Amino acid sequence: MRQAPGWQRALAQAITDPADLLAALELDPALLPGARAAAASFPLRVPWSYVKRMRPRDLHDPLLRQVLPIAQEALPAAGYTADPVGDLAAMVVPGVLHKYRGRVLLTVTGACAVHCRYCFRRHYPYHDANPGGDHFAAAFAYLRDRPDVSEVILSGGDPLVLSDRRLADLSTRLADIPHLQRLRIHTRLPVVLPERVTDELLAWLARTRLAPVVVIHANHANEIDAQVVDACRRLAAAGATLLNQSVLLRGVNDDVEALAGLSERLFAAGTLPYYLHLLDRVQGAAHFAVPDQDARALHGALQARLPGYLVPRLVREEYGAPGKTLIPGS
Ligand SMILES: *Cc1c(COP(=O)(O)O)cnc(C)c1O
Ligand code: SF4
Repeated sequence: MRQAPGWQRALAQAITDPADLLAALELDPALLPGARAAAASFPLRVPWSYVKRMRPRDLHDPLLRQVLPIAQEALPAAGYTADPVGDLAAMVVPGVLHKYRGRVLLTVTGACAVHCRYCFRRHYPYHDANPGGDHFAAAFAYLRDRPDVSEVILSGGDPLVLSDRRLADLSTRLADIPHLQRLRIHTRLPVVLPERVTDELLAWLARTRLAPVVVIHANHANEIDAQVVDACRRLAAAGATLLNQSVLLRGVNDDVEALAGLSERLFAAGTLPYYLHLLDRVQGAAHFAVPDQDARALHGALQARLPGYLVPRLVREEYGAPGKTLIPGS
């Protein structure tokens, strides 16, 4: 049998036992019961190459904070719910979210290479939501019937956990729908597992009639090492427009230095900052919240410090709004 590509093996070998993560970073084993309890409702998942970018013995490492399950996740918090952004109401066909004009989002898989503790999809019922198998037919029928839709967003989960064979097939079938113009891919894989950016991936991306847009997800400059820069540059060379979205997270990037450093580092990777999201109020993530007032002040300070093209738009996702809601700076 042909051996699985290296990135698929790295994906399969990701750390899923909190004891392994604590040991790898020489952290206090007393954290284990809390980590195990939190991981029971949303499992730990993090690739080794991402862990290598963390500082050992530092519980405040900005990358570690994004992935380590902690006891605080179990605390109830008023206003934090399982579907804070109203995705289930926007689902027109299983796996097809049509919330905004001209853009349709497909959740093509529930799987991710990394489990981000603040993720609004941590409670998402993926088993009902994947247009896999025979559901794809309904998704394509919906898209063909909507000439006002010009852009399809592949999301999930993380669409790049699918094989290049499946993705190439998907992009071919989408390109057959004449009114579609752009194919956008929302993915964290070029950041957490840059070896995912294979020649096969670049080949179908460069080949499609649709204009490719790749929106990566990094929250801190330390995530973007030389290998990530290289992966982004190769995506750009294949013709993709590269953008980044991040989430404003307490203890990860809620200071001007961290946000400016992230923008500078993204630029070095040929990627422009697109959105800085306020945290979605999802159960288990309240300890990441930054108060609105602080968020606006931070954004104002960032604007005073960087060229305009390195300042992401500060946004919040609001139920029923026609697009992401822009938060005015202070
Ligand atoms: C965020 C989002 C989009 C894309 O919005 P943009 O402002 O174009 O980036 C599309 N569909 C859904 C369901 C979304 O949540
Ligand atoms: S990679 Fe994206 S979808 Fe997956 S857990 Fe992280 S934020 Fe959520």
